[in-house]
Amino acid sequence: MTAVLDNTDVYAADLDATGSITALADVVGADELVPTVSGEQVRYANFDYAASAPALAEVAAAVTEALGQYASVHRGAGHLSQVTTARYEQARETVRRFVGGRADDTVVFTRNTTDAINLAAHAVPGDVVVLDIEHHANLLPWQRTGRARVVVAQPTFAATVAALEAELSAKPAALLAITAASNVTGEVLPIRTLTALAHRHGARILVDGAQLVAHRPVSLVGYGIDYLVFSGHKVYAPFGAGVLIGRGDWLDAAPPYLVGGGATAHVDLEHGTDWHTGAALHEAGSPNVLGAVAIAAAADAIKHLGFELLGYHERDLRVRLDAGLARLDGVTPLRIFDDVDDRVGIAGFSVEGRPAREVAEFLSQHHGIGVRDGKFCAHPLLVRLGYGDGAVRASFGLGTSSDDVDRLLAALAEFLATA
Ligand code: PLP
Repeated sequence: MTAVLDNTDVYAADLDATGSITALADVVGADELVPTVSGEQVRYANFDYAASAPALAEVAAAVTEALGQYASVHRGAGHLSQVTTARYEQARETVRRFVGGRADDTVVFTRNTTDAINLAAHAVPGDVVVLDIEHHANLLPWQRTGRARVVVAQPTFAATVAALEAELSAKPAALLAITAASNVTGEVLPIRTLTALAHRHGARILVDGAQLVAHRPVSLVGYGIDYLVFSGHKVYAPFGAGVLIGRGDWLDAAPPYLVGGGATAHVDLEHGTDWHTGAALHEAGSPNVLGAVAIAAAADAIKHLGFELLGYHERDLRVRLDAGLARLDGVTPLRIFDDVDDRVGIAGFSVEGRPAREVAEFLSQHHGIGVRDGKFCAHPLLVRLGYGDGAVRASFGLGTSSDDVDRLLAALAEFLATA
């Protein structure tokens, strides 16, 4: 039994005494009913937050308000154009503060994490070291540059750091690009250790914060992170925007990510084009103002709630879920590292002898519970861990209650009883 499950038993005893855990925030669609095979309508239990989290009520309200005053951004002299432009630029500053960015960091609004990493890959002037545990979004863009060096993660985080150290010592790299929390197991990687490691070897670090930013406080300044990327739809702001924030020099030196209006200072058919620097260089075309407003509103709402409370809520639910899964025969949790205890609200698991899709379909069709099954866009990791046929992932967040967790556990127990 791992240290994680030992802790779980201790917390589970506390939980039995403390009873139920309510949702921590209002999310849009919390009371949505869905059909089951029995013909009954049941409240949807969303256990797929790691893929896309529902909108926070505050986010929906902010988007509705911005829509009421929506007009063209950046170039209009009209009053509402000015209001909308101010909202968009204000969102940049809110994001910078939310993730502890430096005053001179460039904050680019992208479509999502995938887009942000593709943009970064276009700007990094050298080799990039990555682990094999990454979501494809933090693997394939680097591979496409032909300058990716993939290190196989080891059974412990300590041994993995040693493997990364060996790679960076053997040959310099420009960047270490690494996830902050696994989208498969939820394990949280100690960022400070990785930042120090990269910097010791003259490399910068890009942190894939897709699974972390809504769950733990992040500070570029505090951790010494050079670049951070994340998606709005995983931080309760599902309006089609994402973020790349980080040091401006490589971004300014890179060619524009897209070419077109907005990225240009001056276009002359004879003498060529003068490009902007900063975020504008990589934000050609009309930006997703509402997506940016949504991310800023989510950042404010999460900050207002406080990461301390959020962390307790998530930990208590995770412990309850882990303890319940541990009691189910044939259910095996997925883990990458033996020495990482901290996890966000993600539980990846397999059910012995049963295809992951069958489990997910049973939960949906019989109980109105949405989980994810498959290889979670992390094929190299799943195959290496022995789950080439896929696994199940239950993930949760601010709108989840202990009733939801108990429903999931009871439904899984029923599934296991149906041989
Ligand atoms: N990185 C991680 C760790 C993820 O979990 C995901 C999505 O699941 C991504 C990157 C890609 O995010 P998006 O699909 O929003 O681009």
